[in-house]
Amino acid sequence: MSAHLSYSVQYVKSVGPKRRKAFEDVGINTIKDLLFYFPSKYLDRSNIVKISKALEYIQNGYEGELTIIAKVSGSEVIRYHKKSLMKVKLKDETGYLECIWFHGIRFFKDVFKQDRHFAVSGKPVLTRYGHLQIAHPDYDRLDDDETDEFINTGKIIPFYRIPKKLKESNIGDFSFRRIIRNVLENYSTYIEESLPAEIINSFHLLKLGETVANMHLPNSYKELESARTRMKFEEILYLHLLMLLRKKRIANDANANIIKVFPAPLKYFLNTLPFELTHAQLQVLSEIRKDLESGKIMNRLLQGDVGSGKTIVALITMIIVSTNAYQSVLLAPTEILASQHYTNISRLIKDLDIPIAILLGGQSKKQRSAMIEIIEKNNNAIIIGTHALIEANINFKRLGLGVIDEQHRFGVLQRSKLISKGINTHTLVMSATPIPRTLTMTLYGDLDVSIIKEMPQNRRQTKTYLRGENKLPKIYSFIRKRISLGEQAYIVYPLVEESDKIELKAAETHYNELKNSFFADIRVGLIHGKMKWYEKEVVMDRFARKEYDVLISTTVIEVGIDIPDATVILINDADRFGISQLHQLRGRVGRSDKQSYCILVAKEEFTARQMSLDFKSEYLSPLQVEKQKSKIRLSAVEKIIDGFKLSEIDFKLRGPGDIFGTKQSGLPELKYIDLSADAEIIADAKKAAANILEDDPDLCKEKNFMIKQNLSKDYSSHKNFSSTA
Ligand code: ADP
Ligand code: MG
Repeated sequence: MSAHLSYSVQYVKSVGPKRRKAFEDVGINTIKDLLFYFPSKYLDRSNIVKISKALEYIQNGYEGELTIIAKVSGSEVIRYHKKSLMKVKLKDETGYLECIWFHGIRFFKDVFKQDRHFAVSGKPVLTRYGHLQIAHPDYDRLDDDETDEFINTGKIIPFYRIPKKLKESNIGDFSFRRIIRNVLENYSTYIEESLPAEIINSFHLLKLGETVANMHLPNSYKELESARTRMKFEEILYLHLLMLLRKKRIANDANANIIKVFPAPLKYFLNTLPFELTHAQLQVLSEIRKDLESGKIMNRLLQGDVGSGKTIVALITMIIVSTNAYQSVLLAPTEILASQHYTNISRLIKDLDIPIAILLGGQSKKQRSAMIEIIEKNNNAIIIGTHALIEANINFKRLGLGVIDEQHRFGVLQRSKLISKGINTHTLVMSATPIPRTLTMTLYGDLDVSIIKEMPQNRRQTKTYLRGENKLPKIYSFIRKRISLGEQAYIVYPLVEESDKIELKAAETHYNELKNSFFADIRVGLIHGKMKWYEKEVVMDRFARKEYDVLISTTVIEVGIDIPDATVILINDADRFGISQLHQLRGRVGRSDKQSYCILVAKEEFTARQMSLDFKSEYLSPLQVEKQKSKIRLSAVEKIIDGFKLSEIDFKLRGPGDIFGTKQSGLPELKYIDLSADAEIIADAKKAAANILEDDPDLCKEKNFMIKQNLSKDYSSHKNFSSTA
């Protein structure tokens, strides 16, 4: 970094020693800090309207936000009922607008002085006198020149989030902009390029100096866009570099345990299965086999839609490991799922002479010590548990493989914890929730990916219907009909989150209602989130043994539960679930050769037929937008069965900052990139990261100096990314 940029912020014109303290208090210490303090938003022509236009919108029923640029033409403080109210009248050449404040009046009186220009934003309402009014608007002050410039030349005005400490030192919207102009004028030439020239050139990136200038004061949206692209590119580049470095480190860790495939026991096992493996399953198994025999540590992600048969792939892998006299551990996201795996796997391998253990909270002392004995004595055991198993102080005898089921429920952090338990442990992580490619690349960039693209052949597509609540009686008779044919049904109610008591009550109410009416003569079980896992297990067991025909669940039925005779799932208040949840729930049925049905029930307003996907959100209130999104989600799940396609839609609907799993996954906060929209940049940056490391594996070359520095500086708190230890 050029020395100039590390100078104190006080040397910037109009900062000076006096304001220096305030800047330092908010973390802006150096000139560089200031240069990289980017606007939080821009005054954007596309959402600014003249007052007369705003009036027209509101009269036509628009309920959303608007931004208006206007000049203060008067203000008054009115007292009523012992309280005060401030009204400010703002004008543009087409009309006037009233802004009102109920508190902070003394402060706002000082801000909204006669003849000052502001950009105010908020949701205008129509007063009974027929003019527009905004209560407590967001506002940004503009100076006269800026207003002229904006109106006449189309210049873009940046707005900065100005911390309170700065405001207290009299630095407001446009004094901050003035300071930014000064720092750019005098110091932007000292900004050194952080990326090597060939990367800049081959990916057509803006140079860093120009980028910084354009982030602050772009001359056009095109310039702003290029600057943002550069910021996004660099941000995601570091992440890819970290993933690749981590992957390389694992790969270089040579002496991994070599696990060989002994065909005889495997053949024997496959012959005991009631079905043939699909091509996709065989393909994945051959990829896993290559890994295990390679002498390098396997780090593989196994992706496959719900019901595609991932468990059996994992089990075969564990059997292979076991015949090599190594232990495997299988981690499930919940205890009930772990216990289901234990039951099923015990049954499947009963002829194979492989010890199997399960460790769960709530086991009796005797049970637990018996299990621990297996774990500590048998170097070929299969061990099942939840992630509590990695936290617990267990001495594995000879751990050779870790399998993580439903990876999306675990974070990146836990993944490395597991790896750190055994030395040179192979890892197989399985994800049932299909996620978009861009996210896979980012979240699992350090893993090799196998995808099961094909469903077992005996499957029929689950028929999905979206229905209004008034159809419930008909749906219940349909369920009765399926039951009379020996099939079973789930009835799901969304989670009531308010309190334990309410959930319990809601569960019992639904249960009693149905028990006393439509299902009086039918065996109905109840499962809810307030039960302990072993209580849930009792209910699930009875359902599996067909002692119940219908299972009512107030909480989401655990992912991965596998009851082949269940052919109907009725999901109440389906609008309250997300796409991936609905898809997961639907995956509870359609697990055999019988035709299955998923019935989504919601209030009639969500099931109305005429629904267009290209709604114009700008004319809707946030509540209306949410409703539209719910409708889109529901009809997407109704029409589309492919989990990967659904995940793309889900991803788009959610938008930036609200992406499933990124928070829990331990990803660093991504400031610029939008994982759902920037697929191209993400892919480019991945290529660039690979190019950089190919040319300079340890980032030792001079041209990569800045990259190395940024990596170790900005990502030091994410060590778990760069090292598996
Ligand atoms: P998921 O991938 O969602 O974890 P599971 O592994 O639970 O799916 O498999 C779903 C069901 O399909 C199980 O009952 C399993 O026994 C069965 N299954 C797995 N592979 C096949 C296959 N090749 N043919 C038929 N059924 C299969
Ligand atoms: Mg599963």
